[in-house]
Amino acid sequence: MSRPNNFVILGGGISGLSAAWYLSRYASSTTKILVLEGSNRFGGWIKSKRVGQHKILFEQGPRTLRPNGIGGSVVLDMVNKLNLTPSLHAVTKDDDAAKDRFIYYPDKIVKLPGTSLLSSMKSVFTNNFLLKSIPSILFEPFIKPARNYHDETIHEFISRRFSKSISDILISALIHGIYAGDINKLSIRSTFTRLYNLEQKYGSVIKGLLMSNKEEFLSQQDKYLLKIINDENKDFLSIFKNVSLYSFKDGIEQLSSAIVNDLKNKENVQLKTNNQVTKLEFGENVKIFTNEAVYEADHVISALPSRALYYILPEKDVLPHLSYNPSVSVATINLAYAHPKILPVKGFGYLIPQSTPHNPYHVLGVVFDSNAMPLQDEPSRTYTKLTIMMGGHYFNSISEKDDFPKKEILLQQSIEILEKHLGIYSTPLYYLVDIQKNCIPQYYVGHYSRLKELHYAIKNHYANRLSVTGASYWGISINDCVLNSAKLVLNILSNSPNVVTGLEEVEIQNEHYL
Ligand SMILES: Cc1cc2nc3c(=O)[nH]c(=O)nc-3n(C[C@H](O)[C@H](O)[C@H](O)COP(=O)(O)OP(=O)(O)OC[C@H]3O[C@@H](n4cnc5c(N)ncnc54)[C@H](O)[C@@H]3O)c2cc1C
Repeated sequence: MSRPNNFVILGGGISGLSAAWYLSRYASSTTKILVLEGSNRFGGWIKSKRVGQHKILFEQGPRTLRPNGIGGSVVLDMVNKLNLTPSLHAVTKDDDAAKDRFIYYPDKIVKLPGTSLLSSMKSVFTNNFLLKSIPSILFEPFIKPARNYHDETIHEFISRRFSKSISDILISALIHGIYAGDINKLSIRSTFTRLYNLEQKYGSVIKGLLMSNKEEFLSQQDKYLLKIINDENKDFLSIFKNVSLYSFKDGIEQLSSAIVNDLKNKENVQLKTNNQVTKLEFGENVKIFTNEAVYEADHVISALPSRALYYILPEKDVLPHLSYNPSVSVATINLAYAHPKILPVKGFGYLIPQSTPHNPYHVLGVVFDSNAMPLQDEPSRTYTKLTIMMGGHYFNSISEKDDFPKKEILLQQSIEILEKHLGIYSTPLYYLVDIQKNCIPQYYVGHYSRLKELHYAIKNHYANRLSVTGASYWGISINDCVLNSAKLVLNILSNSPNVVTGLEEVEIQNEHYL
């Protein structure tokens, strides 16, 4: 089988851009690479905007990156190669302003146990629901494991192994912060994969945490990739040992913009916006129809949301799983106050569990941006900046009818919430309100099995013509998206005779437990 030489990448979010970037670095310089983006800009959900006279930075999508794990290393390697180091803004693990995290339960802000033993003990002993969870953690190692490869909801797994209240209060809050999703629907296997793997291998999460090492569940390819990156960036990566989060001076969009600028300098790369892909036709080559033109490729990499890919494929019944998972919509309300110190607590922000009794506006959480990333605005520390996230799975029914609350109403509700939760009565100097429609894919129970079927279906029907990457498959964080695009490109460019779909991990993952 000859290696493809003419790639079209569908979608110019971080997944599509990074696939193009890796191809541009590692494929031969005669390889043609075209990125087709439907909207008028690149970056997808990454949206960093400066607002008002003081050019305050508001993030409407992702706001922070984590340096840990293989995905963290892959993105840092990219950051290093794109010369973004001078723009880095890092928060260290011991930074007082950002390290504490809170939940709102049942009707007040409660500090979660952190890294300091003393303050953790204080929060456990002063909050009944935290105190009550201790026995279920101690007894977890004695609970029988589920049968092999059994998937279930996050709520079922955590209630079975720990307790219903840990699931309802702590885990549902966490899931609001990551997926804006419902713990009664999301798959444990595809969201908290490590916890799932620990039970599968050690019969207990706690036992597994004590006995496993960090690299235990990495595939051979992951280990190889990690070694190369660690060897190449040893000094640079060591700086991040004490970093918990980072971003850039002008926000996360600096990363996607840097990739775009780098790609623009490559002769074999073309980037096109305003090219909404409407149809794919598979023959000897693949024909890609957009509202602007028809393009041809010998290999198409889809970095679109899986449902968007579903709608442009010629035979809908071949890959039905592409349309199975919904995506939730999230309202983001960014506010900046002209006072540096209006928050009653120091910390990163707070999340609201699904079980919090009175949450009429469906708030998922509030991020204290000016604590988390204090130096993105000039002059620093003069403002208090917050982002309120609302909706997510709570918006599911109105999402179908596209009947979202009006922006003025969302703003009013946010101001009311901040009065009630944080005692903030001031009027914001700047604000930005938007609804990010269908922005976070929800990995419902059975996601892994569906990926497996999808892998074989792509292999059988579109072998070596189509592969997939993006937030719909193996993780939604920027780290996951970049890592999966990197692995996909390396697989395509390797000399292996295997068909590459982007989902081949399903063929090797089970080996961990055999
Ligand atoms: C509010 C919010 C907060 C988040 N916070 C964080 C965070 O703090 N840290 C973190 O790591 N992650 C965070 N995430 C997750 C992360 O930002 C996303 O999962 C990631 O950006 C998805 O990238 P992607 O390229 O896979 O998809 P997308 O960004 O969805 O890109 C897909 C692209 O395809 C284009 N497209 C769609 N259909 C077509 C078509 N038919 N033809 C051509 N183009 C098309 C779209 O316009 C889009 O540009 C957050 C996400 C959201 C929404």
